[in-house]
Parts: sequence; structure tokens; C-alpha cells
Amino acid sequence: MTPFAGMDLSVAPGNDFFRYANGGWLARTEIPADRSSFGIGEELEELATRRTADLISSAAAKSPRQGSDARKIADFYASFLDVAAIEQKGMAPLKGALARISAIKDRRALSEFLGSTLRADVDVLNATSLHTANVLGLWVAQDLDDPSSYCPFLIQGGLDLPDRDYYLDAGEKMAGIRRQYVEHVTRMLALTGFTGAAQRANGVVALETKIAQPHVSRADTEDVRKGNNHWPRAYFECRAPGMDWKAFFKSAHLSKAPTFTVWQPGAVQGLAALVGSEPLEVWRDYLRFHAIDRAASYLPHAFDAAQFEFHGKVLSGAQEQRPRWKRAVAVTSDALGEAVGRMYVEKYFPASEKARAEQMVRNLVAAFGERIDTLEWMAPETKVKARAKLATLKVGVGYPDRWRDYSALIVKPGDAFGNIERAEQFEYARNLAKLGQPVDRGEWVMTPQTVDAVNLPAMNALNFPAAILQPPFFDPNRPRSMDYGATGAVIGHEISHSFDDQGALFDAHGRLANWWTDADFAHFQAAGAALAKQYDGYHPFPDIAVNGRQTLSENIADLAGLAVAYDAFRLSNSQSQAPELAGFSPDQQFFLSFAQSWRGKMREAALRVRIVTDGHAPPEYRTDTVRNLDPWYAAFPITEHDALYLAPAARVRVW
Ligand SMILES: [Zn+2]
Repeated sequence: MTPFAGMDLSVAPGNDFFRYANGGWLARTEIPADRSSFGIGEELEELATRRTADLISSAAAKSPRQGSDARKIADFYASFLDVAAIEQKGMAPLKGALARISAIKDRRALSEFLGSTLRADVDVLNATSLHTANVLGLWVAQDLDDPSSYCPFLIQGGLDLPDRDYYLDAGEKMAGIRRQYVEHVTRMLALTGFTGAAQRANGVVALETKIAQPHVSRADTEDVRKGNNHWPRAYFECRAPGMDWKAFFKSAHLSKAPTFTVWQPGAVQGLAALVGSEPLEVWRDYLRFHAIDRAASYLPHAFDAAQFEFHGKVLSGAQEQRPRWKRAVAVTSDALGEAVGRMYVEKYFPASEKARAEQMVRNLVAAFGERIDTLEWMAPETKVKARAKLATLKVGVGYPDRWRDYSALIVKPGDAFGNIERAEQFEYARNLAKLGQPVDRGEWVMTPQTVDAVNLPAMNALNFPAAILQPPFFDPNRPRSMDYGATGAVIGHEISHSFDDQGALFDAHGRLANWWTDADFAHFQAAGAALAKQYDGYHPFPDIAVNGRQTLSENIADLAGLAVAYDAFRLSNSQSQAPELAGFSPDQQFFLSFAQSWRGKMREAALRVRIVTDGHAPPEYRTDTVRNLDPWYAAFPITEHDALYLAPAARVRVW
């Protein structure tokens, strides 16, 4: 395959750059039945998944010793695949939880049970994982007012559907999903043997709707200034009555924590009030359904299938459930992430590629520094602070410096449900153990085998996992221009987050302290408003547009990332040395590689979920970032009659 396969040369690059770069691929590619979207990133994910499965199988074949990481990985994986054992156990794994729920006879017992469901399953700042079906989610990270110490963060939860809009939006689309959701809850309760399942299901969904009411929107949740609310322990009783907080925190093993960061106070107050006011029978049904839904992958096939019918088909548009082995890789990779990652990088991420990626990062950081120096809108005193922050930026490439210790995690052969429970408890305990310890800026939030990258604003750090630093994003056997267009733009994107409107809120040490002047903000916001308007104008479907405000931070990062990657590409001297390739100039290679790094397609249901819930614009519109860069106009024959053409004054320049 040539580097530029899959293009559609009949499309004018200025009319539709995404289809010019990807039209051939789009025309011939079907989304696999077990996926809701498919593209170049998913292709690499598939490859990483196959590789990980092979690594696990070959580790298992060597009969690793008891207690070793390799043994735990092999046993965890095998237990998830052992559907005969799962079928044979039937409902046994849930017996304990269902009995405890039935025994809830008062508000204290209810609060105690709710506390026991708390897990370290969210992370608003780093992994942007905002959703938990438990009533609250926990996340332990450095205190945003005092970056030298850790603080427990509490995030709203309790909804099985992805977002409050699913409960409260009056549109027909959401109403349809809600009807199917009631059927899903009914089915799960009926399968478990509860009588009057339909009536119970209506009660469960009505309670979730009440929980959703005070929930904070996605956009407000992402605003750290609204989230950084310190609640000394004593606040909970007076500000959020209804819950027996003493019982809640005791069973959550958090009795000793003196202060919490309560990200959405209104949601916590609303939840606590419902704990005090709603009938216990409704709460018991709610907890039963949540316990069953959560465990569905570890229960007999009928549960797993019903779970997929709703969560897979209705919510994400997938037609077929992913093969069990791929799901086994995913859960093992989650539970024993860095142990699996260690095996992955030993085999697939040579030191030479780590060095090459680190060199690219240095070039990007240097180019970003030059952009800062020449910015017209940033005040001189702000530039000094930006430079200081750039100097302390900790860029992790491939994998963490120190690997996580899994010796306290017990994995038992043939106990799939017990293993996942213990893995969740292990992760929860690992987070609680951070409280009172010095902050570890070397901690990673992504595993090395993840095809993604992330900015950790409070830690002023970036993670670029090994699995994204691989072909087709990063490839030693092609011109540098293409690596800069794909991976360089991603690195630039993540660096820029440290210096954008979100990054401006965190100083060089990760303290939530705005280091911009009012004038800096005003200019940045004016530039941002123009970009928000640009994205508001993109309509994937007639009834829904991209939300320019919700996606603004990410769109600005895309713009900065592409501009800085282009600078770094020039500074690295790769441009002058680069050859033409298949008739494309080095600059054309750079932009085509960028557009092809977004190659992908998505099912309608999944795309609709994404537009409502995701801070990123759909890939096609991320590609259109190019229309704001002058060198793109110089590289391709773009005319003012082309759809993507912007007059020089209309091109948004933030960085
Ligand atoms: Zn981003």
C-alpha cells in the first residue's frame, strides 16, 4: 500500500479535504458489525488488541509462577473467557449483593450500601471520564489549591444512560431511547426473577430522572472553576442532608479524609435529598438493577445478550457484540494495565522509537516556545510565565518511568466476577492510599497499550502511550513530513492544552491560579468565539449541529497542534530534505497525513451520542482545521470558490 492509498482525487481538496484525503477508503470500508465506528485509530486498536491477546497467550503457555504478574494476567484473561464456568455459576456471583440490598431497611443502611459502591472510576481533569452509574464517583488527585497534597474528588453519578440529556431532553429521539431503556430495565429485573418487573422498572427510571435533574451539564462539568469546591467533612451533613454521610463514608473507607473536592455540589445535594425522600423499595429496585446491569458480562449469556441489545445496539448503534476474546483483552488491560503494558513495550516499542518520539517532542516544545515568543496578543509578563510552565512540562513518552505494583491484587482462576470486583477494589485502594502521600508527578493515567494521548493539567504533564507511537501514526519507514502531520499534530495538540484557556487556569506547579491577564483572556476569547462559530456551522445531520462552545477547547488545541507541528517540521530541517512522494510535495504530505490520521466513519447513533456528550468535534471537522492555516492554501490549489476557503482575515489564528 502506498502512503497515499484511499484518497479520492476527483474531490477538490478545497471543497472537502477530508474526502479528498480519505474518499476512496470511505467508499470501500464497512464498519465492522461489532463496532459503532471504524477508522485508522480503530485499526491500530485492533492491532494492539491482537498483539495483547497474543502476548497474554504466550505468557500463559509458559506456566508463569503463582503470584507473578504474568500469571495474574493469564488467569484474569482466561476466567473472562471461561463462559462455561460463568454459565454454571448462574446468579451465584450476585447473590451476596442482592441479599444485602434486600436487607436495606432504613436510610442508614441505604447510605452504608451506597458508600460501599464507591469506586475510583472517574477523572474529570485527566482522562475526561465523567460518567459512573454508581451514585457518586471518586478520583484522588492533587488538590487544585495545594498541589503538594492529594485530595479525594467526588463526581456526580447514578445514571445508567450516558448523560442527563437522555432523561430530560424532550425531543423524540431521546424519548424513544427512554422507552427502550424502560424495557431494558424490565428485562434485566425479569431475567433475575423479580415479579412485577415492568412496574419496578418504571420506578427505577423515574428515580434516575430525579437524580438527573440537578446533574450539571457536560460543559459546566468541564469548567474547573465551577468544580473546585472544597467541602470540609462537616459540610456534608449541613449542606447535603438526607444521606447518612457518616455511614456512607465509613463503608467507603473515607472516614478519615478531612476535606473533599465536590465537583458538582448541586448534584450531591439533590442525590442526598433523594436518599432521604424516595421510598426504600424504589431504591432497592434501583440498586438491584444497577448491580445486575453492571455484572451482566459475568452472568449467564441471557444477561450479557440483553445488556448488549441496549447498551451496544440502542446506545451506540453496534450490530454485533464484540468477540469475547477482545472484551477479555479490554478488561484485563484495564485491571492489570501497567503489567500488560510492560509486556507490550518489551515486544513492540523499541528504545530507538522511544528516542525518535522524544526527539519529536523536543522539536515540538521548541517550536511552541517560539510561538509563545512571537504571539502578539499575550502580554510580556504572561509570556514569562508561559515559558516557565513550558520548562517544567513533564512529557511521558511510551510508558512510565516506574511500573505499578500489582502484588496486592488477588486473581483466581475460574472466578471472572470475583476477579473484576477485586480489581476494582484494588484500584480504589490504590487511590485511597495516595491520600497523605507526596504527589507523584510521574504517575500515568493511560496504559502504554492505549491508542490515545492525554494532557494532565494539574500535573503539568503529558502521556503519549507506546501504542499510539506506531504506524500508521508514527512510522520509521516513511518521510518525516508524515509523522509530523499525524503524530506531531497530536503532540502539539496536547502541549497546547497546557497553555489554552484551560491551561491558563493552572500554573507551572498545577495550582488552580490563573496566570493570564484580563487582556490575554479577552483576546483569546475573541479568537475562540470565531472558531466556535466556524464549528457551529457544521451540520452532520439536518437536525443537529456541532456544538462550537462544547468543542471549543479541543478545536483550539487542534489548531495550535497543527500549526506548531508545521513549525517543528520546518525547524527540524525535515522539509528541505524531504523528497516528493507519489507526486506530493513535502508540505502536501504533511497536510495529507494529518487528514488521514482522522480517517474514519461512525454509525449515526454513535455520532449523535458523540455530538451531545463529547468535547471533541467529529473527525471530519477536526480535519477541516487546515482551512485556518496559510501554508495549506500554499500547498494545494485552493480557490476562493472552494467550500473550505476562508479569506486571510477570516482564518482563525489563536497561536
Ligand atoms: Zn485535547
